[in-house]
Amino acid sequence: MKYEVKNGWTEAGEELKKAVYDFSVGYMDFLNKGKTERECVDTAVTLAEAAGFKPLADFDALKAGDRVYAVNKHKGFAAMVIGKRPLTEGISIVGSHIDSPRLDLKQNPLYEADEMAFLKTHYYGGIKKYQWTAIPLAIHGVIVKQNGETVKIAMGDEGDDITFVITDLLPHLGNSQMSKPAHSFIEGENLNVLVGSMPLGYTEDDKKFKANVLKLLEDKYGIDEEDFTSAELEIVPAFKAKDLGFDRSMIGAYGHDDRVCSYPNLRALLDAETPEYTALCLLTDKEEVGSMGNTGAKSRFLQLVILEMLARAGEGADALSLDRCLDRSLCLSADVSAAFDPNFASVYEKNNSGRMNCGIAVSKYTGSRGKGGSNDAPAELMAKVRKIFNEAGVLWHTAELGKVDEGGGGTIAQYVADLGVDTIDCGVPMLSMHSPFEVAGKMDVYQSYKAFGAFFARR
Ligand code: MN
Ligand code: MN
Repeated sequence: MKYEVKNGWTEAGEELKKAVYDFSVGYMDFLNKGKTERECVDTAVTLAEAAGFKPLADFDALKAGDRVYAVNKHKGFAAMVIGKRPLTEGISIVGSHIDSPRLDLKQNPLYEADEMAFLKTHYYGGIKKYQWTAIPLAIHGVIVKQNGETVKIAMGDEGDDITFVITDLLPHLGNSQMSKPAHSFIEGENLNVLVGSMPLGYTEDDKKFKANVLKLLEDKYGIDEEDFTSAELEIVPAFKAKDLGFDRSMIGAYGHDDRVCSYPNLRALLDAETPEYTALCLLTDKEEVGSMGNTGAKSRFLQLVILEMLARAGEGADALSLDRCLDRSLCLSADVSAAFDPNFASVYEKNNSGRMNCGIAVSKYTGSRGKGGSNDAPAELMAKVRKIFNEAGVLWHTAELGKVDEGGGGTIAQYVADLGVDTIDCGVPMLSMHSPFEVAGKMDVYQSYKAFGAFFARR
């Protein structure tokens, strides 16, 4: 059959359009509630419980049709619908990540300079630093006090009565700045967030501007300066997700990468009927910095969850059963791809590029400099996946990230594949990826949901 890349809106009837728009409402709500990986996990738990899912640990035994979830150290999540076949015949995994590029606060962040108070940051993931100045910013995260109490922080968002900013230089004085290359005209160490400019009147402290911020934080959250050392506070754009375009065909938002795959992944799992093969939605952390650590895709969380299921399914929670399960499993590594952008046409190869509104982009391989760091999926798996998508009427196309040698990227696919799982990359094509306000086509978000649902229902 002829390979064609089709724009999903071209032949979309009213019913499909309504389904696409309705789905995007839930997704935008997920984005607004989850600006950090921890907030995404909290939201996933809420949605899972509302859909009748229970903690895996609460089950002594598992049977087909059971709906369970597990949380990995506040930052990772898995939800499962137990299938009709034994786990050792393999499972269906859709893996995506819930961390996004951002600025983290340093552990000793607060200082004053020239009668202003600032927070120092250390950026997380691949950002263009200049994009983070002169836009409204919010602070989200947790402060864990010495006594173990966790204080959740979320302030500065659109709709709140305060916000924060990183200043930029006025163009009038920008002559030498503007002649520097883009990667260095805003230095990482200058990404300091302006948070105050009023002194504390009644203190002898020679840092009155810093003292005033500390006083306000103590009054509102009961925290002191040393508490910052045991905090994970993230500076994120203050924007809410918005319909984009006169036709509302797109969504502009912070954090599409990779919540734009994570939400359809979670939703498809929560909506799944009892499948043939156990279905597993995996939401991981730390993808933007290499998937390492005990909350990233390289951690043993997935294996642990499978072992916990094997034990409860009476299949023997041993190394052989685990490896059999992994070896016979399939995984869609769901992460964003680059959508062709006519404003930057020279970096794309049109015949093999992600296209907005043309459905889920399937990437047999990713990587850079000759597929380096790539999971190159087997042709047999690609055949299975396109059959599943075609039979379910899922709009899809094949894509790689830009021209050969133009750059590249990779995601969690290789780490899942390392375990023996047949794994392939796919996801929503994106404009302005890794910027504070990324763009996704609503059609593609919905087609991803359909794609993951069809994959979970495979026979
Ligand atoms: Mn990603
Ligand atoms: Mn990314």
